[in-house]
Amino acid sequence: MTAKELAPDIAIPEEVADNVFITSLNTIYNWSRRNSIWPMVFGLACCAIEMICAASSRYDLSRFGMEVFRATPRQSDLMIVSGTVTKKMVPTIVRLYNQMPEPRYVLSMGACANGGGPFKEGYNVVDGIDKFIPVDVYVPGCPPTPQALIHGLISLQEKIDQQSITNVPWYSKDDPGEFLPIPVLGPDLIDMRQLDIIRAEAKAAEKEDAALAESAE
Ligand code: SF4
Repeated sequence: MTAKELAPDIAIPEEVADNVFITSLNTIYNWSRRNSIWPMVFGLACCAIEMICAASSRYDLSRFGMEVFRATPRQSDLMIVSGTVTKKMVPTIVRLYNQMPEPRYVLSMGACANGGGPFKEGYNVVDGIDKFIPVDVYVPGCPPTPQALIHGLISLQEKIDQQSITNVPWYSKDDPGEFLPIPVLGPDLIDMRQLDIIRAEAKAAEKEDAALAESAE
């Protein structure tokens, strides 16, 4: 909106009136951030093929400033979790997420990343990446089409538009950013955030077993 439309009572010389814009710091920050999201080169399974298609010239992600896929988490703004998340991969995914600088975003692409998908009951599959890292946008489908992924990316842009530099964590002095505990790989993947709960449950189970054994004697 031009200054003339927004503030008709401010005297602005006629020759520059259409060139003056009134905006806010938030709008400028968000505008620049939303139009330069660099995704990480990162694919897990079949959904990754659709993500690669979305990056092709046919769909032209340059329109959104997102065509620069980076091969390192340190230069990436967005992690697209595209594919089946196995227990073996989760520690690596969380480690990569921790290596991304703020501001960072996560898009969960497809049924597998969202909730395990067709392999949900598999012994080695995690039922949703959001159990381990915070997800900003979920894209449903098996696999989602490139158009669906682009819709998810536009939804992320809309989310960024709502952010305010007064409350985003990466400008806060108190909160230096979240460092997520890396899960321990094993037959039963352990989420380190739930370690206290797991310990308490194990102790309770032990006590229950001991009480049962005593009553049986
Ligand atoms: S959601 Fe479907 S297409 Fe995507 S990784 Fe899982 S099985 Fe493959």
